[in-house]
Amino acid sequence: MYRQIVYFSIGWIVIVLCSFGWGYYNSSQKDEQNILKVSRAFFDQIVLTREWNAWHGGVYVYADEKTPPNPYLSKDPERDICLKNGKILTKINPAYMTRQISELAAQYNGAQIHITSLKPIRPANGPTPWERTALKMFETGVDEVGTFTDGHYRYMAPLILQKSCLQCHAEQGYKIGDVRGGISITLPYNRYASLWPRIAGYLAVTVTGLLFIQFFGRRLAKAYRMLEEQSIIDPLTEIPNRRFFMKRAKEEFQRAERDHTPIALIMVDIDYFKGFNDRYGHIEGDVTLKTVAETMKQQLRRPPDCIARYGGEEFVIMLPNTTPEGAAKVAELLRTEIEALKINNEASKCADVVTISLGVATAPHDGVSFEIQLKQADEALYAAKQNGRNRCENTIVEPTEKKISSVF
Ligand code: GH3
Ligand code: MG
Ligand code: MG
Repeated sequence: MYRQIVYFSIGWIVIVLCSFGWGYYNSSQKDEQNILKVSRAFFDQIVLTREWNAWHGGVYVYADEKTPPNPYLSKDPERDICLKNGKILTKINPAYMTRQISELAAQYNGAQIHITSLKPIRPANGPTPWERTALKMFETGVDEVGTFTDGHYRYMAPLILQKSCLQCHAEQGYKIGDVRGGISITLPYNRYASLWPRIAGYLAVTVTGLLFIQFFGRRLAKAYRMLEEQSIIDPLTEIPNRRFFMKRAKEEFQRAERDHTPIALIMVDIDYFKGFNDRYGHIEGDVTLKTVAETMKQQLRRPPDCIARYGGEEFVIMLPNTTPEGAAKVAELLRTEIEALKINNEASKCADVVTISLGVATAPHDGVSFEIQLKQADEALYAAKQNGRNRCENTIVEPTEKKISSVF
């Protein structure tokens, strides 16, 4: 039963581990899809804004310290417009606008936006090694790339050359539909943030489950043990019952046949016990039965020896690896011990006290079946009764022909 508790505990741990793995895998997939969606939305928003800007051929804002005129538009005669009030409006093209938006985004939510190209007009827009690899992949037809790095998610998609881009980028040799570069978006994201709370939760479930298994498993084991004991112990005499004896006898007879050792069987019956009950009452009879059983049990000192209540006021004793002489001695000892109890039995016609009669059957040879030997012990007991009771009769069982033929 305790082994079952261990198996159940291991099973429970395996179930929780599988559930944890499956749950974590699914939530990671979902997280990945979500962060990809957010990155795409970011990218689309930037591209839209850039298209709006390119559509208008650039937009003008006041030039100041933070927004100085774009040096890469120095060839554009319309780059700066001087207003009557002396202020200067300077042209913001899509690249300049993206740069400024990315600076704002970095301050606002930690997102890093980088517009880059394998042929940048502005050297600072050159790609990082990761971006360079991504840009090369876009040229082979890949639509987007996304990857987790330490505490971040990196996303990058290509910028495809539109008609509106040609006004600035035609001289670089691009055609409409070419990959002109890409925008990489790096978002703060810790994919393991939910791992520890999840592990803690699953640990709590595992431990609770194990405690339950231990608690109920132990109670069940105890109940099972009690049930098992009840099924093999005679409730009145508290010695094993006939069912248990038959099981033990089968095992011992198999062992004796293997080891070529003799087994002795003794059948015991209390003399004139019906009269005892009639004279002293059934309750006193029960007490005496128990005393007789206990007394005999105490005389059987070797561990494999076994006594059982065979039925009524009859007992059966098995003495493995015991010679006829040894068995006869044990039987005589039992008889004298019961007599020495000096429990009055006025109903007895063979003594003044409670006595027992015993039939001993020993098989010093191989090939004697348990059933035959038990029958011979019963016949010896019958002889003891016939010969005056309060005595032992011994018999040596010879192998039956049937058994011999099976041996040879
Ligand atoms: P014998 O010497 O020939 O064995 O005579 P006996 O009276 O012992 O034999 P018999 O088989 O006629 O009677 C057995 C009696 O044992 C019958 C019953 O009153 C008594 N007995 C059997 N089981 C129990 C029990 O559990 N409790 C009590 N009190 N008596 C029992
Ligand atoms: Mg009897
Ligand atoms: Mg009797």
